[in-house]
Amino acid sequence: MRIVLLGAPGSGKGTQAQRLVARLGVPQISTGDLLRSAVARGTPLGLRAKAAMDAGALVNDEIVIGIIRERLKEPDAARGYVLDGFPRNLAQAQALASMLADIQAPLDAVVLFEVDYAEIARRIAGRRTCPNCGTIYNVHDAASRGITHCRNCDVAPLLTQRPDDNEQTVTRRLSVYDEQTLPLIGHYRALGLLRSINAMGSVAEVESRLHKALAASAQAARA
Ligand code: ADP
Repeated sequence: MRIVLLGAPGSGKGTQAQRLVARLGVPQISTGDLLRSAVARGTPLGLRAKAAMDAGALVNDEIVIGIIRERLKEPDAARGYVLDGFPRNLAQAQALASMLADIQAPLDAVVLFEVDYAEIARRIAGRRTCPNCGTIYNVHDAASRGITHCRNCDVAPLLTQRPDDNEQTVTRRLSVYDEQTLPLIGHYRALGLLRSINAMGSVAEVESRLHKALAASAQAARA
């Protein structure tokens, strides 16, 4: 399946995308992760992206669209993928649609994660990431409480907090989401692709709602 996860920063897209990968056997394609990796490696692209990311602004469309265009050509994306953090505005959605039209491989579903802002602030404050494998943990989750090192890596690196997960940058990221990303809801609804899920509650609860939404999309496509 070719799936887009849509939702505010901290709404749980990354966490659920990591779980979907295991279930569907398709890759997670996260522009945030790809950009953070470019920044960490100090590539020219990373150097161009860093200032926008640190400020909580969107990275230039041309850069992000270029990253996605290359990533979708990788062999592992041929069977499908979970897009997490892309598209984030209408220009990116249009660029994606034209890339997919060229290869006659349209999106199957767009799932909107609905969470209130108080919960977003709580989740972002508690978010910790493995600098090695990118696994996301949250100090508020019973399953991660007290955990300081990654469970999935042999070297068990110390979990870190993303530099853009501070209060000021989060406020900016949320207003960028309202201004630039929210219009995608109407866009995908008009195309008949949008499914909304309640993304409050535990990771397992949201995961089960996500599976139901994807099953409904698959069934609608067969009808
Ligand atoms: P979150 O959704 O939690 O804010 P991400 O990891 O998806 O975090 O993104 C982190 C940052 O990377 C964003 O604030 C933005 O600067 C940049 N970024 C990620 N995806 C895109 C995109 N599609 N377009 C522009 N910038 C992006």
